[in-house]
Amino acid sequence: MTVDLHDFVATVEDYPEPGVSFRDISPLMGDGAAYKQAVDAIADFAKDLNVDLIAGPESRGFIVGSPLAYAMNIGFVPARKGGKLPREAVSASYTLEYGGINELEIHKDAIRPGQRVLIVDDLLATGGTINATREIIEKLGGVVAGVAFIIELESLQGREKIMKAGEVPFLALMEY
Ligand code: 5GP
Repeated sequence: MTVDLHDFVATVEDYPEPGVSFRDISPLMGDGAAYKQAVDAIADFAKDLNVDLIAGPESRGFIVGSPLAYAMNIGFVPARKGGKLPREAVSASYTLEYGGINELEIHKDAIRPGQRVLIVDDLLATGGTINATREIIEKLGGVVAGVAFIIELESLQGREKIMKAGEVPFLALMEY
């Protein structure tokens, strides 16, 4: 039996600032059937993409990426916020949806040249987070095998921004 994943997204108006509708996926993560269905759907999308590794940006990318990597029997690479990794890392910075600049970092030895990496996150907004993650993967010689999200906020045109950096297979389980 499948569930409607939309039933597990809580919309919070005016958060984190006035005028913004925040899509909270906590109910989805908190429900075993919905969480498994979402992760399995991404695994199904990934099965023909020859994926060697899953990468996800801090923090909610970890919640999507870790169970996916486990289900696919492959490794998970965290893209952490700047200054948190203990060893040599490669970084990229990007502008946040609600203003400000953020930095993401991946350990230099986490991805070998030629490895195919699927990038996942809970939600695609402007695409800044994903393009920064992609930039690091490509600096390390990795190949982006695809990108997958639980939610895409269509009006912010993040998908177009991703494709401008190079066409890749794309999946969003829900569009708002
Ligand atoms: P982007 O870089 O694409 O503009 O923003 C996406 C990042 O911000 C993701 O890592 C995501 O977790 C977070 N984010 C932005 N807006 C929302 C939202 O409405 N709901 C959730 N769950 N995350 C958001």
